[in-house]
Amino acid sequence: MRYVYKFGGTSVASPERISAVADRVVRGLSEGHRITVVLSAMAGETNRLEQLAVDVAKRPDARERDVLLASGEQVSIALLAMALIERGRPARSYLAPQVAIRTDTAHTRARIEHIDVECLHADLEAGVTPVIAGFQGIDADGNLTTLGRGGSDTTAVAVAAALDADECRIYTDVDGVYTADPRIVDGAARLGVVTFEEMLELASLGSKVLHPRAVEFAGKYAVPLRVLSSFDDGPGTLITTEEQDMEQPIVSGIAYSRDEAKLTLLGVPDVPGVASRILGPIGRANIEIDMIVQNVGADGSADLTFTVKRGDYDRVCEMLDEMREEVGARGFEGDNRIVKISVVGVGMRSHAGVATRMFDALAAENINIRMISTSEIKISVVVDERYLELAVRAVHSAFELSEAAVEEQ
Ligand code: ASP
Ligand code: MG
Repeated sequence: MRYVYKFGGTSVASPERISAVADRVVRGLSEGHRITVVLSAMAGETNRLEQLAVDVAKRPDARERDVLLASGEQVSIALLAMALIERGRPARSYLAPQVAIRTDTAHTRARIEHIDVECLHADLEAGVTPVIAGFQGIDADGNLTTLGRGGSDTTAVAVAAALDADECRIYTDVDGVYTADPRIVDGAARLGVVTFEEMLELASLGSKVLHPRAVEFAGKYAVPLRVLSSFDDGPGTLITTEEQDMEQPIVSGIAYSRDEAKLTLLGVPDVPGVASRILGPIGRANIEIDMIVQNVGADGSADLTFTVKRGDYDRVCEMLDEMREEVGARGFEGDNRIVKISVVGVGMRSHAGVATRMFDALAAENINIRMISTSEIKISVVVDERYLELAVRAVHSAFELSEAAVEEQ
């Protein structure tokens, strides 16, 4: 089999752990697999580098920041390649320009456009294990770029797609994707399989296991992705395309996000163009709007409520204050002590009553729902921050996720 193995920061945090990674790669090679490795920087290193940047400059230049941050991965790949060679396994480390991992020029959040895989194929043919620096790329003018924090997952998936690998394995500090955050829900179960679509929702909704862009990329190029522990053996969680004959659980998992705030513009005239006049400037200021709800009251005026990330709250309050008169609103109110809880599952498509079951569970705990939004495979509610744990547990138990028969692959 052709594999890409990706190891995160905690898996390469010390010389001992790098040796353990080398042992794992050697085991895979001994089983006859062809393995390409992608690494993160040693745990804490990228944070340390980011701190250095702000120690010398208030607003570090983006190009130079990328040159700095990309250096973390150079250390880990060289160390792993040495450890493999020491074990009698030929290996070669590669920085992004050496492979040619081409990206656009968007420093600090570049997107991969193309990977030249010739050198990797040649190595694999010759029994050499390539060890590639994650998170970094090179633009058309030869500048170093980085893909955004956590971006080495995306490098791994892109390399796997370019090599047409059988599976991209993300070795990390948890042993898979869970039905809910195990730190909150005691009986949370590891999922055996989850679809790309579900994982994308879970990843974007706050489960930190995988970088959302990596999941998006894997789905687009149909790269089977597996999340597994770098410290124990176990099958982990396979993320794959939905099989027609696969009996889907109605709900696969529950995600939450604390990073939410909600704002309401009160009593705006119910006429065409108002939503666009209010939300347009916010979007143009690069502030992401998530849920939007509008209610028209008996007096014919409307309340427009929407949510943004908590960090954008103060800024949006200022903007609403400025535009209030111009759009003819009576006033505005806001709340930044809210959280979003979502149930996700492709099985929802073919089952009714999922929303009711979720709402019943919250009602039974006397938790007030402040906003609701739905998509084909997801139902999200906004509740007060203080109910987060209780709400997640209540919904998890309402869908009997602890007993979920974990399907092994
Ligand atoms: N080293 C980078 C970071 O800490 C990339 C990664 O770990 O995925 O964000
Ligand atoms: Mg990571």
